[in-house]
Amino acid sequence: MAVFSVREKLAILSDAAKYDASCASSGSAKRDSLKSGGIGSTEGSGICHSYAPDGRCISLLKILLTNFCIYDCSYCINRSSSNVPRARFSVEEVVRLTMDFYRRNYIEGLFLSSGVIRSPDETMGEMVEVARRLRIEEKFGGYIHLKTIPEASAELIEKAGRYADRLSINVELPTDEGVKKLAPEKKPETIRLSMAELRRKIEEKAEPTLQSRKRERFAPGGQSTQMIVGADKTSDDGILRASARLYGSYHLRRVYYSAFSPIPDSSAALPLHNPPLMREHRLYQADWLMRFYGFSQPEILAGSNDGMLDLAIDPKLAWALRNRGRFPVDVNRADREALLRVPGLGTKVVDRILETRRHRRLRLEDVGRLCHSVAKVRPFITAEGWSPGALTDKLGLRQTITRPCEQLSLF
Ligand code: SF4
Repeated sequence: MAVFSVREKLAILSDAAKYDASCASSGSAKRDSLKSGGIGSTEGSGICHSYAPDGRCISLLKILLTNFCIYDCSYCINRSSSNVPRARFSVEEVVRLTMDFYRRNYIEGLFLSSGVIRSPDETMGEMVEVARRLRIEEKFGGYIHLKTIPEASAELIEKAGRYADRLSINVELPTDEGVKKLAPEKKPETIRLSMAELRRKIEEKAEPTLQSRKRERFAPGGQSTQMIVGADKTSDDGILRASARLYGSYHLRRVYYSAFSPIPDSSAALPLHNPPLMREHRLYQADWLMRFYGFSQPEILAGSNDGMLDLAIDPKLAWALRNRGRFPVDVNRADREALLRVPGLGTKVVDRILETRRHRRLRLEDVGRLCHSVAKVRPFITAEGWSPGALTDKLGLRQTITRPCEQLSLF
């Protein structure tokens, strides 16, 4: 086995971790250790690696403990049959690296995942030890996200939650059939059971205890998961159905969508090409519709022929064009739910509309000042002195309001 320096290991194990998308942080508060002399903050700014849902950019050291793995998931570059250089950090090396980067303000936290070495418990045990040493011995006050191995013991998961801000378990693929076909050593039932157990623990520890009346700290940033998109034939409708189930059943903070990228010497069961990155982006937008815009999963693609999100326009606009009978919406009278359905109106803009109209009636120009693109909103609203007339039903409306270079913003 080749012997690598820490620097070489870092190159191998940070590159191996880049396929994991599930590392944006959210919902993390400053740790108590900061009040008692701990160092660092989860709220500063530095090198940007990922974005929190509130748009805050945070920098993470994103690495694998090792890319050795006893499993052979066909979509994974680190699978046992893959011909890649292998490396393994010791617990001490990860702790040192994290603290060195942190003290230099290169990072604000650690995202630690791993291939499975020898057994799930052995691997999870080492990851927990990294987190424990950072928190207890180094007084590390930054963000820690640990990838959890579904088969690991309940005792280790309990410890992981004590030290980490967020835990995640990857469901890997949107359907059980996909998991069975492409990751046959993984059991979808075990993944679900682990998520359910994590949810139970997060909720249980969030309750104040009778004796101390304090909440026990356990993964305050909740749990998340990642789904690979485009490795199997599941449609966007099927992917969103899986996400809706995950949010509903396990109260996940986030489902991350990671576009499959072809890997060398891959199995014939996998596609040769990666899906368009825009597909991943549209899935994130549709996911936001379910979480923040009051859309139920089935309505997002109701009426679509192939169950796929339109790559050319965002899913809210696509829905509005299929449901023109629901428009125009009166910005001076409609409730929040109806306003959130208007293309071009985000949650903040809707809140500002509701606030402003308490004092005066809104004209189109007022809405234009609040939102990003009044051209997109105009056909779908009425305002003081403005009615779209036949514009809402215009045949070429889609072309009129879609610029050649489609935006990448969220609504
Ligand atoms: S268990 Fe994880 S690291 Fe191992 S092959 Fe499967 S996806 Fe890759």
